[in-house]
Amino acid sequence: MPNPEPAALSRVHAEASDRPTRIRVDLDALAHNLHALRAHAGVPVMGIVKANAYGHGLVPVARHLQAQGVDQLGVAFVEEGVALREAGVTVPILVLGGIHAPQVTRFIEHDLEITVSSPAKLRQVEAAAEALGRKAVIHLKIDTGMERIGVHSENAGPFIEAAVGSRWCTVKGVYSHLACADDPASPMTALQLERFLDACAHFPRIGAPMPLRHLANSGGVLHFPETHLDMVRPGIALYGVMPDPASHATVDLRPALSLVSQVVYFKVVRAGRPVSYGATWAPGVDTRVVTVPIGYGDGYPRALSSRGEVLIRGERHPIVGRVCMDQFMVDLGPGGTAYNEDEVVLIGRQGDAAIACEAVAQAAGTIPYEILTGLNDRIPREYLGGTPGAA
Ligand SMILES: *Cc1c(COP(=O)(O)O)cnc(C)c1O
Repeated sequence: MPNPEPAALSRVHAEASDRPTRIRVDLDALAHNLHALRAHAGVPVMGIVKANAYGHGLVPVARHLQAQGVDQLGVAFVEEGVALREAGVTVPILVLGGIHAPQVTRFIEHDLEITVSSPAKLRQVEAAAEALGRKAVIHLKIDTGMERIGVHSENAGPFIEAAVGSRWCTVKGVYSHLACADDPASPMTALQLERFLDACAHFPRIGAPMPLRHLANSGGVLHFPETHLDMVRPGIALYGVMPDPASHATVDLRPALSLVSQVVYFKVVRAGRPVSYGATWAPGVDTRVVTVPIGYGDGYPRALSSRGEVLIRGERHPIVGRVCMDQFMVDLGPGGTAYNEDEVVLIGRQGDAAIACEAVAQAAGTIPYEILTGLNDRIPREYLGGTPGAA
């Protein structure tokens, strides 16, 4: 049974920690993004919640998406699916990753849909389903250009025929994954779509009903309407973040995650005195420096050493010197002021200023996905909005 008060519960957990550093998840932004993406695509949505819901918190996010009427959820690993079932999430869940034979029983026992990516894996699923006396619900994975998992589209015919003819498997879906959809100009997506539709054509050829065809990740949803087919699988866009600097906002999305902390120390650093490990940075004049209690041990990248920025009192200030495991320093300048306990925004808004996850990723030399999924469980998460039952 779904818990009616997920947000309230999670707030209690966050309050139980008096660590000033926290992730704030705006559940209303998440709901807005789900509805905006579904309206844009015009087909059902499989909300992707793998990797702790891209750092937003697996269970609270999944419960909220379920309350908002998401059609299906997608995770990477069986453990993530089991955690959702144990938390009372009842919507269909597809596990996207490749399967290992010893795990198959657990999929079926927890009513998780299985990605079948080869004829050998099909036989493993059939064997486990037969042993349990319970049919497995499967999605066939076709490789159209990612070269990750799946049967190459040119070999899909016999694979599809074997799956359709299986006594112990129900073929609910057929899918593939786009390698370059975050770039609206890439010709790869059209090629992958063509290969995918060729593979899907085997179903009518053998007189089988067409299962759910799904192909579009966030990039596909945003930039390639012809990939929407029967269902879309947005991950990062659901959280209001763009997959790539080349992406553009074809849908009005709102970032759901903020990362905040508080000043824990204030001092004047004399001209020429270096700051932090390795003594890599020193001020040219006496300056005011504050310390912020979060570091790479929380998943805030060390690559932001002397490159990142934060907001304090509505102003942008640079991180100076190396980011440590648990702390880093920020230069307010010779005339800057801040007090202990002042709010520090690392990702999100403060007054009229904002730091987007995309900008943090660019400064760190990585992609927004890695920033979000890197934020680990040492940081308490707090859930705002999301009045139970509100649509
Ligand atoms: C992660 C993943 C998605 C979601 O990707 P985004 O780029 O975050 O939208 C969709 N489908 C599969 C198979 C995935 O592994």
